Formats: sequence, structure tokens, C-alpha cells
Amino acid sequence: MINALRGMKDMLSPESEKYLYFIENCSRIAKNYGFEFISAPILEESALFKRSVGESSDIVGKEMYEFTDKGGNRVCLRPEGTAGIVRSFIQNKMDRAGGVKRFFYYGPMFRYEKPQKGRFRQFYQFGVESFGISDVREDASVILMLSEILNFFKIETVLKLNSLGCPKCMPAYRAKLVKFLDAIEGLCDDCMRRKVLNPIRVLDCKNDQCQSFLTNAPLLIDALCDECKSDFERLCAILKNFNINYEIDPKLVRGLDYYSKTAFEFVSGDIGAQSSIAGGGRYDRLVEFLGGKSSPAVGFAIGVDRILELVMLDEQKREGIYIGTLEKEAQDLAFLAAVTLRRKNRVEVEFEAKGLKNILKNADKANAKYCVCIGENELKSGILWVKDLDTKENFSVKKELLGEFTW
Ligand SMILES: [Zn+2]
Ligand SMILES: [Zn+2]
Repeated sequence: MINALRGMKDMLSPESEKYLYFIENCSRIAKNYGFEFISAPILEESALFKRSVGESSDIVGKEMYEFTDKGGNRVCLRPEGTAGIVRSFIQNKMDRAGGVKRFFYYGPMFRYEKPQKGRFRQFYQFGVESFGISDVREDASVILMLSEILNFFKIETVLKLNSLGCPKCMPAYRAKLVKFLDAIEGLCDDCMRRKVLNPIRVLDCKNDQCQSFLTNAPLLIDALCDECKSDFERLCAILKNFNINYEIDPKLVRGLDYYSKTAFEFVSGDIGAQSSIAGGGRYDRLVEFLGGKSSPAVGFAIGVDRILELVMLDEQKREGIYIGTLEKEAQDLAFLAAVTLRRKNRVEVEFEAKGLKNILKNADKANAKYCVCIGENELKSGILWVKDLDTKENFSVKKELLGEFTW
């Protein structure tokens, strides 16, 4: 007996149905916003994530699914989606072409975390990345898109918003923060490490004691340069204009190192205490950092696994045709009928001969609209007996006319 690996799971119905429904509708909405589908490899060189996500992050520090392949390359299952898309954007010279590119993607990501409730080592994300636009309206667009997606699935969230500054204002703030942190005794081990590698990450430490030290910490939102400040104010004004409620959260710093200016998170109270179900922001320096021509960029990613718990499928209407056989001899005709009807309909067929009662029961379970039963009479006459499972009416169809009949 071989089981799935620890922290990995099969996605079965109805979750798999919800997944398709979720991805289809996210894709539809993303296309409305001018985004095109991109699929980048799941496996990339480890160096890509070390450089983009940053050595200081937990992802690279502890959670990479990394190994050496048969060619001796250090490779890694992608822990997040952005780095691969940026790599593709550069490799395919879209940065040189200088145009605007907007992509959406979805699929599995991998992090070697301690498995816990609702968190898996293979998990799913839907995300978008927009390249080439520094105008804050693009930040607003992706937030509006994400908000539209969450509204479509009737998921109640709170939008948290912050600005992470730019190379003009961030360094001075960072120095001020480090000075403040140096005066604190008793920060947790993670924070002691972050203080050196990426001090702003101390601000969102989940440790209560750390948070108690941070009550009077200097905040970046008070230290933004004029450009960052006016961009942030414009973004807030646009969101207000479109009735998007938000809270400014000066301690929202995002887990990844490459963000600048706009950072946001949609938080839901429905799945545990204030869980983030989607987040994103601007990362104007990442393209250049990975060796491309400097291009502004903004995007988001949705954690699909947890959101599926909140996605409700519509009450499924009866659909399609269920074909059952009363005699072994009816199998060929059942098969022929299924092939013919499948050109226009969803058809399920059961070859094993069963009693009428059982066939009707299975048709009901399959949520079919029509049930076709083929037995001795049908074989002789060539006329098929059909039951409409909604109206409970019976009628008959000549087998030659199956293809033309409107179901
Ligand atoms: Zn700035
Ligand atoms: Zn801490």
C-alpha cells in the first residue's frame, strides 16, 4: 500500500469541482482586465528563488523543496509564482520590447513546512502579474480585480493596505527602525535574525511579546517620500471612489523581500482568526534585480486551498443523460447511443445489466436529467424508453433519431 506523501493530498469531488469553478471564474475576470494566461514551469533553478524571494525569508531559509537533479543542477519546486513569471518575462525579452504585459497563472506551489491543519506542502495559487506600468491606477486595477473575484464568490473580507516606500525613503526608515530595535531586549530568535537580514519583517512577527515591544515603533507610513506619499493617497482616493473599504495597516509588510510601495492583503475572519487569503503589491525592482531591464510591476496571489472552504457551488441543476441496460445483449446499443448523444450532451453509461429500479436510482445519483433504459423490448423495436427525472414523464425516441433529438 503506497500513500500520498506527508503534507500532500488528493483533491477529490466536491473540492475538485469547486477548484475548476474557482479557476474558471478567476480566469474569466482576469481576462476582462486584459490579463492573458501564462504557464511557467513548476521546477526552476534554486538560484531564481534565492535571488528573488531572498535568503532571509523563511521560504528560502527553511521551506524550499530543493534537490540536485540527474544533471547535477540545484533545482527547486516553485514555492511561489511570481519569480518564475518574472524569469519568463526577462528570458523572452518582453522587458526589452518595453511594452505592457499582463499575465494570470494558477497551479500548485510547494513548501516543505510542518504539515498542519489547512496547510499543505503542495498548495494552490491563482495569481496575476502586471509589467510595465508605474501608474498607481494599475495598483488600483489589480485590487479592484481581486475584490471583484472575492465578491463573485461571496467571500467577506477586509482589505488591509500599506506602502512600503521606495529606494528614496526606505533606507532612512530602515536605519531608524534598526536603531529602535537595537534598544529592545527580548525579541524572539526569528526577530533577532530578521533584524540583521530584513528588519521591517520584525513588524509582523506573530509573537505577542515581540508585538508588545513594537507599540511605539517608528512606522514607514510616517516616513514616506513625497512621491510615495502622493501615490498612496491617490490609491486610497481611487478605492474610496469605487466603494472599496480598506484599513491602513502600517505593520503590513508582506513576507517577501522584493515589494515596494503598495502592499495589500485581503483578510477573512471566516477561516480562523484573521487569516490572509490573498495578497500582493508592487515590486518595481524585481525585474532589474533578476537581470532584466528595469520594469515596474504589480500583482497578487490568492491562496486557493483555504478559499475553497468558503466557495459555495450553485445548486446543481439536473443535466445530461444516464443510460442503463436491463440485459447483457443491450450493451452494444447502449454504447452506440452514448457515443451518438455525447456529440451534444453529457452522457453517463452503465454497461452492467441492472433492474429498472436500480438504474433510476443511479441516474438520480448522477444528477442526470434524463434516464434511458435499454432492454429486450427496446432491442426488438429500436424505440428507446426515456424518463425525464425532473417532470417524471416518460416518452420514447427512435434510436435512429437520437442524434437529432433535442434533450
Ligand atoms: Zn519613497
Ligand atoms: Zn518576534
